[in-house]
Amino acid sequence: MVERLRDHYGIRDESVLAAMRCVPRHFFVPEALRGRAYDDHALPIDFNQTISQPFIVARMTELLELDKKSRVLEIGAGSGYQTAVLAQLAAQIYSIERIGELARQAQARICELGIYNATVKAFDGTLGWNAYGPYDGILVAAGGPRIPDPLVAQLKIGGRLVIPVGETRESQKLIRVNKTEGGHQVEEHGPCQFVPLIGQHGWALN
Ligand code: SAH
Repeated sequence: MVERLRDHYGIRDESVLAAMRCVPRHFFVPEALRGRAYDDHALPIDFNQTISQPFIVARMTELLELDKKSRVLEIGAGSGYQTAVLAQLAAQIYSIERIGELARQAQARICELGIYNATVKAFDGTLGWNAYGPYDGILVAAGGPRIPDPLVAQLKIGGRLVIPVGETRESQKLIRVNKTEGGHQVEEHGPCQFVPLIGQHGWALN
C-alpha cells in the first residue's frame, strides 16, 4: 500500500509514508472486509460511514505539513484510522465525531494500539474544539457546503485547514486554507468524494 502511495500517487513526504506503514489499517476495518484493508479504496464502516481511501488520508496529512510539536484538530474520526496516522506525526490530536458510538469505538481502537496522544469526543465538529486551540493543523474528513468559520478562527496564524468543500453532498474539491496575519488564503487540491459533514456549519441532517 505504501509503495503505491509513493510510486503511483506521488506522495513524497517520507514522514507521512512512515506513519502509514506503522498503522495497521486492517484493525480499523470491519472484520468481513479485512482482506481488502490494504486495497486502494474507501471501505464501509458502521452507521453508513466510510474509512477514507489510503491515498486521500496520505494526501490530506501531507497538506497539513505537521511536525512533532503540532497540535491538530480532526473532524470526523470515523473508524479512527486517520486519527492514528496523525498521532504518529504530531504532538497531540483532538478529534471530534458526531456519531457517539463511532467516537467510542475509535477511541478504544486507538488506545488498544497504545496511542495515547489522541482523544476523541462526540460532538458537532463544525463548531471546533475551542478549549485546546489554536491549532497548527485542522483536518476535516467529511464534505461540507462551505468552510466553517469557527474552524478558521481556531487556526494559528501560519496554520493549515484541509477540508473537502462542494456545492452538493455528493462531491467536493479538496481545499487548503492557510491562515495569515491579515486573513486567510485558499488553495484547491483536486476533486474528492466524502460523506457529508453534518452540523451547524455543515449540511442539515435531513
Ligand atoms: N477519517 C475517517 C473517515 C470518516 S468518514 C476514517 O479514517 O475512518 C467521516 C466521518 O465524519 C463520519 O464518521 C461522520 O459521522 C463524521 N461527521 C460528519 N459530520 C460531522 C460533524 N459535524 N462533526 C464530527 N463528525 C462528523
